[in-house]
Amino acid sequence: MAKQIDVSDLDIYYGAFKAVEGVSMSIPPRSVTALIGPSGCGKSTVLRTFNRMHEVIPGGRVEGKVMLDGQDLYAAGVDPVAVRRTVGMVFQRPNPFPTMTIKDNVAAGLKLNGVKDKRKLDDVIERSLKGANLWNEVKDRLDKPGAGLSGGQQQRLCIARAIAVSPQVLLMDEPCSALDPISTLAIEDLINELKEKYTIVIVTHNMQQAARVSDQTAFFNLAATGKPGKLIEVDATTKIFNNPSEKSTEDYISGRFG
Ligand code: ADP
Repeated sequence: MAKQIDVSDLDIYYGAFKAVEGVSMSIPPRSVTALIGPSGCGKSTVLRTFNRMHEVIPGGRVEGKVMLDGQDLYAAGVDPVAVRRTVGMVFQRPNPFPTMTIKDNVAAGLKLNGVKDKRKLDDVIERSLKGANLWNEVKDRLDKPGAGLSGGQQQRLCIARAIAVSPQVLLMDEPCSALDPISTLAIEDLINELKEKYTIVIVTHNMQQAARVSDQTAFFNLAATGKPGKLIEVDATTKIFNNPSEKSTEDYISGRFG
């Protein structure tokens, strides 16, 4: 199996607290992997180690390896800012820059990277908004504030902003949990289109969503509060939902806990 992300023996800490222990898994390119499991088992924590966002939290550190295309993301000399360009992130609450126009929201990352050419910027803005299935809804109001859009549109704007810098991987942390059902379906459809170009890792507490959007599912669990979360099993989504290997996976997906 080709591996875009390859995690081995990953332990993740907040200060002295070991939040997640012993994660090993790999993620093929241009696929969707869902991280599921009860609240507090470490899904978001694991996700944030894939683009070095975890260490932004004071005391946040990892032991073990996260490889991206064969390169150790935590090796000496790796620039976390460059990592975050290659591995973009979309958050739970849509967070467009509130005072910026729709256009400037999409172009923000490019401008930070020093792109000034207006034609190039306009081209990327259009391409990214089309890629996020938002172009038709906003093309006549590109100079209006991003904050004026609906929640679902704002989340697609954030996806457009993330893809504008041409990442290879998109991390999504419960991207639909603040959205209504129709906007949620729009994002799920979009994820299905985006996986043709990007590798997607999504944290979701919605098991139907994991079953609908992902190719591979990783189930995390927690022995007890205060103990580290662990990866229980990772496999093809159809296998996890129809015939999981572990009893605790079956108990979780059939709604017996969590
Ligand atoms: P999940 O995404 O599965 O709900 P999290 O990754 O948010 O779980 O949390 C895993 C564990 O790490 C929990 O015990 C949580 O309390 C702890 N944790 C999360 N964020 C922080 C933080 N910023 N500082 C300290 N502990 C944290």
